Amino acid sequence: MSLCEGVLRILEEQAGVQNYSRVRRVTLEIGMLSTAVPESIEMCFGAVTRGTLADGAALEIVRTPGEAWCKKCAASVPVKERYTPCPRCGGFDLELRAGDGLRIKELEVD
Ligand SMILES: [Zn+2]
Repeated sequence: MSLCEGVLRILEEQAGVQNYSRVRRVTLEIGMLSTAVPESIEMCFGAVTRGTLADGAALEIVRTPGEAWCKKCAASVPVKERYTPCPRCGGFDLELRAGDGLRIKELEVD
């Protein structure tokens, strides 16, 4: 299943829960460490949503920074890419905390 189909499925599920029939704008939050490529999501979103409740909806993508917990430093550190060492101690004992996911941040609906 493509990411766009996943997003559309969430929009359709939420339409029942939040009682809307049309999506005008979607803001997606994509972590900097996510494997999701914003450009390809932008490209497929229009095609996937054609003829659905999100047909013609504007898509906005916000990138969020990565964050990991370094066990050595016992601190939360920023990470720009996967498999990069801790910017403080240079160690690799990192546990990703944020920035590797994709979620719907905002919805504008009718
Ligand atoms: Zn460290």
